[in-house]
Amino acid sequence: MKRIEHIGIAVKDLDAANKTYEAVLGAEHYKTEVVESEGVSTSFFEIGESKIELLAATDPESPVAKFIEKRGEGIHHIAFYVDDIHAEIKRLKGEGFRLLNENPKPGADNKLVAFMHPKDANGVLVELCQERPSPALPDVEGA
Ligand code: ZN
Repeated sequence: MKRIEHIGIAVKDLDAANKTYEAVLGAEHYKTEVVESEGVSTSFFEIGESKIELLAATDPESPVAKFIEKRGEGIHHIAFYVDDIHAEIKRLKGEGFRLLNENPKPGADNKLVAFMHPKDANGVLVELCQERPSPALPDVEGA
C-alpha cells in the first residue's frame, strides 16, 4: 500500500460538518458526491497528499447510518492508495484476511474500492482504493 489516500468520517449532517471541517482545515470542500450503491452523500477536502471524506447517510438502512446508530459520529474508515487493487486483494486474501468485497467496486471520487473486514484489522475498517482507469480517449491523430 502506498499512502493514506483519505480518512472517512461518518457525520449526521453533511452541511453542518462541511462548515465545521472548513473551519478546522482552513480549506473549502472541493466536491460532494452521492454514492447510491452505498446510500451515502460524501464531501471531500484535500490536505496535502491525503483527503478527508465526510460521509452522511442518505438511507436509514445504509452501512453509515447503522455505524452512527451503533457508535455515533466519528472516524469510519481509513483508505490506502494501491496501484493494483486486484493484486492487493489477492495478497491480503493470501495473508488470511477477509475482504468485504472480493471484487473491487466503483466508489466516490472516481475510485475503484474494496473493504477489509474490520474484525481482521483491530476494529478498523480498511479501504483499498485505486484510481479508476479512464476510458480510452478517441484517437484524433490525423483527424
Ligand atoms: Zn472512503
